[in-house]
Amino acid sequence: MDCLFCKIVNGDIPSKKVYEDEHVLAFHDINPVAPVHVLVIPKKHIQSVMAIEPEDKELIGHLHLSLQKVAETMEVTESGFRVVTNIGKHGQQTVFHLHYHLIGGRQLEWQF
Ligand code: AMP
Repeated sequence: MDCLFCKIVNGDIPSKKVYEDEHVLAFHDINPVAPVHVLVIPKKHIQSVMAIEPEDKELIGHLHLSLQKVAETMEVTESGFRVVTNIGKHGQQTVFHLHYHLIGGRQLEWQF
């Protein structure tokens, strides 16, 4: 499958790993928008939130618990941070493998 993040999961493309377990991988975004910008992904290929199936319920819960671990590792739990997932064209999704941006390390704005 021609998916950038599947290639990162398989080790075909290098990444700067922050966290990994059997089902989840977290790595630094190549183009960070803040001092902390980590992508947290399921190893299973799922296109976006809209492609999550009922059978993925446990995986998605596990992924959210992994977000907590990544936030702790990146030392942003006290200051706070943001978790974002982009979906489709208007959401400006560019990689079609479900991923959560964990962003922090500075004061964030909320402007559109
Ligand atoms: P999105 O626009 O929500 O689909 O986010 C995709 C993200 O993947 C962007 O923030 C990119 O900077 C990031 N990205 C693209 N290629 C790589 C890569 N090889 N390693 C790490 N992050 C990447």
